[in-house]
Amino acid sequence: MQYLDPNRVSADQYINGVLEGDLVMLARALSLIESSRIADTSLKLRVLEGILPKTGNALRVGITGAPGVGKSTFIEELGLMLVEKGYKLAILTIDPSSQRSRGSILGDKTRMDKLSKSDSAFIRPTAAGSSLGGVAQHTRESILLCEAAGYNVVFVETVGVGQSEIQVRNIVDYFLLLMISGAGDELQGLKKGVMEMADGLAITKVDGENIHKAKLTQTTFQNALQYLVPASSEWQPKVFTCSAFNKTGIEDIWDNVEQYFQQMKDNGYLEHQRQNQRLIWLDDCMRSEITRHFQQINKDEGSFERLKGQVQKGTILPNRAVVQIIEQLISK
Ligand code: GDP
Repeated sequence: MQYLDPNRVSADQYINGVLEGDLVMLARALSLIESSRIADTSLKLRVLEGILPKTGNALRVGITGAPGVGKSTFIEELGLMLVEKGYKLAILTIDPSSQRSRGSILGDKTRMDKLSKSDSAFIRPTAAGSSLGGVAQHTRESILLCEAAGYNVVFVETVGVGQSEIQVRNIVDYFLLLMISGAGDELQGLKKGVMEMADGLAITKVDGENIHKAKLTQTTFQNALQYLVPASSEWQPKVFTCSAFNKTGIEDIWDNVEQYFQQMKDNGYLEHQRQNQRLIWLDDCMRSEITRHFQQINKDEGSFERLKGQVQKGTILPNRAVVQIIEQLISK
């Protein structure tokens, strides 16, 4: 692979490369949008604006579940099925543990080995880096780049450890929660918040001795779901069972995703949800830009650290601190 100096790749080169589905340029563009260098900001924006007219056409699906639930095995089987059906699939994986533990749950093992060899699949891991908000931001932009490169299904995979699900829910159309059998009250309580966000739930590893237990779990979750508000308009989430080992139940889950898209396209909800998501994106951008600018001022004057110290001691209210931050930003 020829080394391309990012400083010498023009916006047009990025745009044309991505639109042609050139994998090297797609990978370079994905690295560019993850760059935190202020010097890259304007190039990044020009690239994204250049590809924007060719975006929006993918089925954006979020897939979450606890470590070990069987995400990568499931995604590989589902992915191979989609490739077989003629889809082009991009998989963006977010691992919120990677920063804390300095190792990555998702990256520790060779994942999706067969799928990664397919020409119709593109897999891109993202470490959480310094902030989860930042990852959501990059992932939104990554989805757009993958769509522009011709991928018509985008999976956003995240490890369900609590913080990341809501972020992912806000950037995808359909949100799938993977769970294992075992329907104790404790498990339900833990999952309730995430269950409310899900458009579909699937119990994994339903093979061998698990089959009986899984049926009970399925009924319990299906009953629990009736009392939760449906995440999406006019959509009643279902609980599926599947086994990636036996390749069972996977087709039904995908049928449900396709059914969702058809129904939500027809009733206008899909567009409504994407419009709302763009507003959340705007909100996130504002917050991160203001923080970035203020941190810059702090670098010069130490004022953010001073204010933080005062807030910590309770000698100044956080809202007063924010007023001062904004005043300083305006005066610059
Ligand atoms: P992840 O951490 O959620 O990505 O989970 P993995 O896909 O790595 O799977 C975790 C473990 O569950 C591995 O040992 C897999 O072999 C096993 N596993 C995955 N899918 C199945 C399945 O359909 N049936 C059974 N019995 N085991 C599975």
